[in-house]
Formats: sequence, C-alpha cells, structure tokens
Amino acid sequence: MATLKDFRNNVKPNWCPGCGDFSVQAAIQRASANIGLEPEQLAIVSGIGCSGRISGYINAYGFHSIHGRSLPIAQGLKMANRDLAVIASGGDGDGFAIGMGHTVHAIRRNINITYIVMDNQIYGLTKGQTSPRSAEGFKTKSTPQGSIESALSPLEMALAAGATFVAQSFSSNLKQLTTLIEEGMKHEGFSLINVFSPCVTFNKINTYDWFKENIIDLEETPEYDPSNRVAAMTKIMETNSMLTGLIYQDKSRRSYENLVHGFKEQPLATQDIKITSEEFDKL
Ligand code: SF4
Ligand code: MG
Repeated sequence: MATLKDFRNNVKPNWCPGCGDFSVQAAIQRASANIGLEPEQLAIVSGIGCSGRISGYINAYGFHSIHGRSLPIAQGLKMANRDLAVIASGGDGDGFAIGMGHTVHAIRRNINITYIVMDNQIYGLTKGQTSPRSAEGFKTKSTPQGSIESALSPLEMALAAGATFVAQSFSSNLKQLTTLIEEGMKHEGFSLINVFSPCVTFNKINTYDWFKENIIDLEETPEYDPSNRVAAMTKIMETNSMLTGLIYQDKSRRSYENLVHGFKEQPLATQDIKITSEEFDKL
C-alpha cells in the first residue's frame, strides 16, 4: 500500500518560502495516502497561477493546463476513466475570474471530482493585482485607490449553484485540511474545498495572523448540521464567509457519471463505440 512518501517526487517547488500552497500540496499527498490510493490511481489537473504548479510537485498523473480551464479537463478525464481519482486545482483568480463559468457548471453537473482552490485573495504570479476574492478597498497596482467591487463569496456561490459538497480550510491547519480533502475525495459527486492559502509576498493584508484572527471554525459549533442547506447559507452569511470546516454535504444526490445513460456499465475509455452517421443523425 502506498504511503505519503510515494506521492512525493524530486521536483523542488519554486513557491516563495512561507507560501500557503506548500501545505495544500502536503495535505493532498497525505489525504491520497490515507484513503489508500496508489500514485497511478490519482490525476491532478491545475490551472495557471502560482498554485497551478502543484500538479508538477506530486507523484501522480499531472496536467498543468490552461488558465481557468482545469475543470473541463478534469471532468473529461473522469468521464473517460472513472476509476481514476481526479483533483482539479488552482487559485482564486483562475477559478473565480476567468474560470468562473466552468466552476459554476461543474458544481451543478456534479461529476465525481474534487476541486481545491488556493485562495490568497490576490493574483500572485503576476506580482499582486486585485482578484475576485479581494475585499472592497483592497489596494494593489490594479486598484491603487482601493477596490470598488465587493469580494465574491465562493461558498455562497457554490451553494446557490447546487453544490453537493462545500468545505473551507486554512493552510495553517494541516490536520483539518487533510481530513477535508479526504472527505471531499470520498464524496460521490463534485466537492469544492476553498483553502485560505496566504500569499506572503504580495498580500500584506490577508496574512497568516489576519486569517487566525478572523477565521470562525465550525469545530466551535458542534451542533452544526452540514446536511442543512438553508442553515449552511445562513451560517456563511452570518460569518462573512470566514467559516472553516465541512459546511455542506448532500449525500443523497448521485454523481453525474453514474446517471449518464449507458455509462453506468462501462466507462467511455473501455467502450467500443461504433456509430454510423445515419444512427448519429437519428439521436
Ligand atoms: Fe505563493 Fe505569493 Fe509567492 Fe506566489 S507570489 S509563490 S502565491 S507567496
Ligand atoms: Mg490568487
């Protein structure tokens, strides 16, 4: 059985020392070993941004794809080979700006993959511009007088789009992050895990200390019921989206690939599909 070491490769990450993405990488490796995967049973597709490099730092199938497009590729992979555990990953700019159309539809489509967003509330790779997750008033080179726009709440967006698994965590809390990734990977359907992953170089506002002061962990609310969608939305709004933990899970809905006609019996990769143009026209 594979261990944590088996998910390590010899590529040295070129993230800045202290970047939150290191913990996300470690959590994915730990979670994959903990749920009993072998490296060849895991594929990681990433978008563009500092966090997009993650697919090269884990010993598994890796695809460093295109900006905002990790989700279409990850969904295609899963549909072609449903035996593969598939993780899509990227930053808040990648997933909630250019990739937002894909994010919303992947959530409501509910294919059985896990989407991990490294949310640092800024564009890091391009040296610090305001992202969809930056707070109102946030000053960067692109908004020197402070952002006029309000920050997007990925948690509210995911619930509104029909998500079946929504969680949020923090790079400093490796134990919780690992557990949530494990739960997300075991969930039948699309799981979104938004991770507060500080950019220590360009975001001097949303620092590790700032998150520690502002995060509200659901562990402090033991009576919280993650199966109650209305309660989840209320809690998210009451806490200004600063909640961490498992926020919502719907175990009753089946995942997309299990509902596709003809797909249940055999994944596309192993099907001998022969169709004439006449048959195709009649479809
Ligand atoms: Fe991480 Fe920011 Fe450095 Fe990019 S610029 S590697 S997000 S700390
Ligand atoms: Mg970012």
